[in-house]
Amino acid sequence: MTLKQLPSTSELHLTSIWPVIIKRFVWSYALLAILITLSLTYIHQQYTQNIAKGMLAQEEAFVASTKQVLQKEMQMQLMVLQMSSRANVLANFLEYGSPISRQGLENLFINLAVTFNRYDQIRLIDMQGNERIRMNYNNGQPAIVKKQNLQNKKNSSYFQESIKLKKGQVYVSAMELNMEHGQVELPYKPVVRFATPIFNAKGNKVGIMVMNYFANELLEDFRKQMELRISGQGMLIDPQGYWLSNHNRSNEWGASLDDVDQQFKDLYPKAWPTVSQHDDGIYHSKSGIFRYVSVKPFNLDSIGMFQNEHNVNLTVVERSKQITDWKLVIFLPNETINEHSIFNTDIANYAIVLLYIGTAAILLLLLFITEQKRKEIQYDGIIKEELNDLYENAPCGYHSLDNQGIILKINNTELSWLGYQREEVIGKPFTDFLTSASVTTFERFLAQLQMDNTIEGVVLEIQCKDSHTFFVSTSATSILEKGHFAIARTSAFDITERIELENRLAYIANTDVLTGISNRRHFFQEAEQYLQTEQAISVMMLDADHFKKVNDVYGHDIGDEVLKSIAITLRAALPEQVVLARLGGEEFVILVANLNAQQALQLSQQICVKMANTPISVTDDKDIYITLSIGTAQRDFYGEEIDEILKRADIALYQAKETGRNQAIQST
Ligand code: GH3
Ligand code: MG
Ligand code: MG
Repeated sequence: MTLKQLPSTSELHLTSIWPVIIKRFVWSYALLAILITLSLTYIHQQYTQNIAKGMLAQEEAFVASTKQVLQKEMQMQLMVLQMSSRANVLANFLEYGSPISRQGLENLFINLAVTFNRYDQIRLIDMQGNERIRMNYNNGQPAIVKKQNLQNKKNSSYFQESIKLKKGQVYVSAMELNMEHGQVELPYKPVVRFATPIFNAKGNKVGIMVMNYFANELLEDFRKQMELRISGQGMLIDPQGYWLSNHNRSNEWGASLDDVDQQFKDLYPKAWPTVSQHDDGIYHSKSGIFRYVSVKPFNLDSIGMFQNEHNVNLTVVERSKQITDWKLVIFLPNETINEHSIFNTDIANYAIVLLYIGTAAILLLLLFITEQKRKEIQYDGIIKEELNDLYENAPCGYHSLDNQGIILKINNTELSWLGYQREEVIGKPFTDFLTSASVTTFERFLAQLQMDNTIEGVVLEIQCKDSHTFFVSTSATSILEKGHFAIARTSAFDITERIELENRLAYIANTDVLTGISNRRHFFQEAEQYLQTEQAISVMMLDADHFKKVNDVYGHDIGDEVLKSIAITLRAALPEQVVLARLGGEEFVILVANLNAQQALQLSQQICVKMANTPISVTDDKDIYITLSIGTAQRDFYGEEIDEILKRADIALYQAKETGRNQAIQST
C-alpha cells in the first residue's frame, strides 16, 4: 500500500489562517478605502454643488432686487432731469439773465434738493462754461452760491461731454468721488453727474443743466443689503473693475484715488476675465463662487417701469452707458458653503469614520469566513483523498455489489489480487471471479443479505485471471434503498495462509504418519459420514501375516518401509472414493460403498492376490512378498454403529487367520 504524499490534516489545523487574511485584508482594504474615498469625494462634491446651487438660488432674489433698485434710482434721476430741464425758464435765464427767472430757478433747485435729498449740486452753466446758478446741498442746508463764488467749468469733462450733445441727450458721468479744487473732498462724496443741454424756443443750445447725484445713500443701502446676505460678501464694481462698494471698505474708490492696485482683477485675477466679459453668470473659483450681473442702469428696455417712451424722453449717450455699466458681484466663499454642509457636522464625521471602520470590520469578517471555508474545503479534500487512498490501497479488498451480485465498485488491492483491469470487472457478476466450489456459498451469502444487515467471515475461493486461486474471508454490510437490500459493501481478507494451515492441520490430524494414508481417527470420521447415507456399506479388516518375522529378520526400520509399501499397494489397488486407513500396527481397514457382500468379498480377494504378488524390496538385492488376511462385513441395517460392523469384520479376520491366512473371509 502506498499512501500519497499529502499535507497532513493536523498540519492544516495548526497553520494559522491569520497571516493570509491580514495580507489579503491590507490589499483589499487599501483598494476599498480608495473606492470609498473616491465615492465620498464625489458625493461631497455633488452635495456641495447642490448646497451652493441652493445658496445661489437664495441669492437670486437679492441680486434681482438690488439690480432693480439701482436701475430705478438712476432712472429716477433721468426723470427729474427731464422734468427740470424742459422748463422754458431755464433757456430764458441762460439767454437773457432775468432776475425773476433766477429767483424761480433758485427756488426750483432748492426745492429739488430738499425734496429728494440726494443732489449735492444742481447747476446751470452757459455756453462758455460759466456757472450761472449753483445750488450746494451743504449736508442738508441747501443754499445758492453767491455770484462771485461761481466758477468756470469749461475744462471739466462733464461740461465738454455734455455741451456737444443734441436735444434730448444726456451725459451721465462715472460714479466717482467729488473733487473740490483738484482734491478729493472729505468725507468721501460719491457722485454721479447728470448733464443735458438746454435749448431755447428757436432750438438753439444755450447752456447745460448739471445735477450732481449724491450716491452715498444708495451705496449705504446696498451695503446694508449685502450685510443681510449669507456670506456678507457683495460688491459693486465699475467697468474698469474698481470697487464702488466692497465688504472690505479699504478697497473702495481706487479710480478716484488713483490707486491702480485696488481693482477686482488684483484680488481675483482668475475671475476677472469672466466677470468683465459677461453680463450675467457664475464663476467657480478655488476659493468660492462668484455670482455676477451687469446693472446697466440706463438700459431702458430691461426695466418694466420705464418702458413707456412718454415717461422718459431723454437718451443717455452710449459712452455714459458704458462708464456706468456697474457690476453687482456677490461672492460665496467655500467656508460659507461648507458651514452649511452636513459634512461639516460632527455626526457626519463620526459616520465617515464609522464607515471606514465598519467596512474594515466587515471585510475582515468576510475574509475570515472565506479563508476558513477554503481551509475546510481543502481539509475535506485531503480527508477525501486520504480516505480514497485508504480505500483503494487498503490491505484488504473492498467491493460493492448490487442485489444481483453485479460488481459496482472495487478497490485497487482487490483488483491487483484478481489481476484484472477495472473495466474488465465493473458490471460483471461477482461469481465470474469465484471458483465453482464457492459459487453456491456466495449465492447463499447474497440471499442471506436480503434478511440480515451484516454477514461476517464467509470464506470464498477467488479465481484469478492467471487461473490461480486463493481464499478470502468476506464480510458484508447491506445498504437499503426504499427499505430493500440494494448494495452490498463488502470487505475481503486474503486468508489463503490460514486455510493452508487449517488444511495442513487437518492433514496431520487425519493422516497416518508412517504410511500417509488416513489414520484411525479419520477412518471413524469418514465412516460416520457414510453411515449417514442409506447406501450399502462394506468394511474390511486387513492384517499382515507373520509380520513379526519381517521385523525379526530385517529390523524394525525395514518393517516400517514394508508397511509403507503395503499401504501404497493397497491404495493403488482401490478406487479413489474407497476409504483406506491404517488402524494401527500392521492392521488396515477399508470402507467401500455400494457393494453387496459378494462383491465386497471379491474385492477383498483381489486385494489378497494383488498383495501376495507384489514384491517388496527390503534390501538392494532382496524382495519379499507379504500376504494379507482380510475379514469383511456388511452393514446389516441403517443406523447400525461402525463398531458393530468392525467387530464382525474382525471375527471374520480371525477366521481367515485361523484357517490358513492369505485369504479373505466374509462375516456370516
Ligand atoms: P499373525 O498376525 O499372522 O498371526 O502373525 P504376526 O507376526 O503378524 O503376529 P501379531 O499380529 O501378533 O504381531 C504383530 C507384529 O507386528 C508385532 C510387531 O512386531 C509388529 N509390528 C506392529 N506394529 C509395528 C510397527 O509399527 N512397525 C514394525 N516394524 N513392526 C510392527
Ligand atoms: Mg496383527
Ligand atoms: Mg499379523
